[in-house]
Amino acid sequence: MNNSLLTLKKEHKKYPKEWVYSLLLKVDIVRVVQKFISLKRRKKNKSEYIAQKGCPFHKEKTPSFTVSQTKQFYHCFGCGVHGNVINFLMEYNYWTFEESVRYLARLYKVKLPYRKTKKK
Ligand SMILES: [Zn+2]
Repeated sequence: MNNSLLTLKKEHKKYPKEWVYSLLLKVDIVRVVQKFISLKRRKKNKSEYIAQKGCPFHKEKTPSFTVSQTKQFYHCFGCGVHGNVINFLMEYNYWTFEESVRYLARLYKVKLPYRKTKKK
């Protein structure tokens, strides 16, 4: 199993875990992050991208925010933020986990599963 899936927290139960995993397998973090910030492919490692205008989460002079296509992770060497595509959407847009998942589902034309509602 892909490491990037492990950062999903247990409390995110509103959508079935298996469904979220299968959605994540279709998603390319580079494609998604590029919708919000401009990324440039690194020459040395073509599966790695670097934020051209620097890290969106802290101020910096030399770009240190990288996105790895093979690992499906983002990481900033400057401020230490890292995570998968859902973490990025949540932190960058201040979205909830569900909003981020719904965004990805829409983007990749994946049908949302039946959502369980808890009876009170
Ligand atoms: Zn940073």
